[in-house]
Amino acid sequence: MLIDAEWITFLKKFTDAQVLVSLDGVKEINDRVRVDVAQNGTYDRVIEKIKLLIENGISFGVPAVVDSYGLKQVRRFIKELKDIGVKRIGINPPYKFDEEDSEFSTMDALVDGYFETWLEAKRLGIQISGKAYLPEWHAMHGHIANCEGMGRAIVVDPDGHISLCDKIADKLGTVYNLKDVFKTDTYAQFAMRVKGNIKACEDCEINYLCNGGCLAEARNSYHSDNLSGKHCEFIKKMAARMFKEF
Ligand code: SF4
Repeated sequence: MLIDAEWITFLKKFTDAQVLVSLDGVKEINDRVRVDVAQNGTYDRVIEKIKLLIENGISFGVPAVVDSYGLKQVRRFIKELKDIGVKRIGINPPYKFDEEDSEFSTMDALVDGYFETWLEAKRLGIQISGKAYLPEWHAMHGHIANCEGMGRAIVVDPDGHISLCDKIADKLGTVYNLKDVFKTDTYAQFAMRVKGNIKACEDCEINYLCNGGCLAEARNSYHSDNLSGKHCEFIKKMAARMFKEF
């Protein structure tokens, strides 16, 4: 929403800047949840910003949180984005993975829905990844942890406070004592959350791929440092389906 001519000029200076523009589906789906302070839907304005990025040749991706309701419309969403020139879309299942809320009768039917979406996007020539598609996501990013937030990137807020993820409350210091940030126990704990080093996941057949899942998601949804229950079942089944296709 902030992208304007000034931002475009700034972004053009960086060939490796990663711009992510969040949209959660077609207009009627996105505008249920992504609203501005006046409670107006944001879809139309975000699409205008996407067109501005495309016109100026700035590389970007569109991450979307797609729940079982949104999944029924997601192919239309992908086609709409393709038609305006979007090339990369990330599809993420909802934070709290609750089968009771599912529009699909069984977990297998839900997995089918995400899997068919992945195939359709590939047929359309869209690069599609995200947390619903871990094999593709990790093939693209090659993480040894679930994401860069686990010790390989920092988030700086406008006051200079540093955290490792904008969805995890722990503040590790400020830009004025940057060296100390990397000596904290919390930083060490995050940085060591890597493949093969997560006790609760050591017997899981996809732990090398999932790495305990998103820590913010696990903490905020399951009050744990790793995912659990239906969420794990979902990503394991998705991975199995995708590996058969590869
Ligand atoms: S699927 Fe579940 S058990 Fe397996 S690595 Fe991921 S969070 Fe751990």
